[in-house]
Amino acid sequence: MTDKYAVIGNPIAHSKSPQIHMMFAEQTGQGISYETILAPLDGFTATVERLRSDGYKGCSVTVPFKFEAFELATELSVRARSAQAVNTLTFKDDSINGDNTDGAGLVRDIEQNLGISLKGKRVLLVGAGGAAFGVAQPLFKAGSRLSVTNRTIEKAQRMVESFDEEHVISIFEYSSLKNESFDVVINATSTGLSNEMPPLPSTIFAPGALAYDMMYGRKTPFMKFAREQGAQVADGLGMLVEQAAEAFNIWRGVRPDTAPVISKFRSS
Ligand code: NDP
Repeated sequence: MTDKYAVIGNPIAHSKSPQIHMMFAEQTGQGISYETILAPLDGFTATVERLRSDGYKGCSVTVPFKFEAFELATELSVRARSAQAVNTLTFKDDSINGDNTDGAGLVRDIEQNLGISLKGKRVLLVGAGGAAFGVAQPLFKAGSRLSVTNRTIEKAQRMVESFDEEHVISIFEYSSLKNESFDVVINATSTGLSNEMPPLPSTIFAPGALAYDMMYGRKTPFMKFAREQGAQVADGLGMLVEQAAEAFNIWRGVRPDTAPVISKFRSS
């Protein structure tokens, strides 16, 4: 019997998750199938219920359903609870377990793949949407000195207020970043999609800084800007593969080797 998994989103056709999970399955000898499922914007819960009754074992959840998945899950991991968003659902007989692997994926990509320890580093997280919520606490727990900024400052405040460590995380308006610089600047906004970038000053990158854009599959204005300021630049492909590996481990109890998967995507 092949265990069935899927990724639910809207839109979803662009998703690389089926290829990633099938490469993991081949590598680890796990018998699974994994497909994309386009859920109507008002039909996330119904889609999950259909998958459960069809015997699926779990699913990944992407834009715009991560908050609905959080509401739907009957059991939540600690990191899903702190992210207030869920990207991985596991279906049990009488429960739906929700987890969030985005933060672990990002931290692993920066520390293991890029070889940059976050401990003690000044990190600026730019954005306070679903992706930022998922990674903020894991970045903090990795030992970084975390600051956050967002166009809608109330959302950044709400994100930080939900953490136990609220008092040690700095919140900046974009306009007050003029005299600040950081060792790691993470773009968790969706500005790359519209070929824009957040209004960051050119002085934002400390010498030798890492500029990490969660976006992948295209060169964004943030990446170009960061390169012009002499920063080391990374896109979000590594994070995508690492968060998938974390989900695969939850479902299958085996951690795949991500390096060959990342390099396959980089070379294609
Ligand atoms: P959301 O829609 O939840 O949040 C969007 C964020 O972008 C908000 O902080 C919003 O600010 C900000 N924003 C949008 N337009 C502008 C603008 N013109 N100027 C300044 N800020 C702006 O999106 P997600 O958080 O889900 O996704 C964000 C990005 O992360 C996407 O590019 C997505 O592809 C990527 N991502 C990558 C992953 C990976 O594995 N590599 C995983 C998850 C996401 P405001 O609050 O003011 O509206």
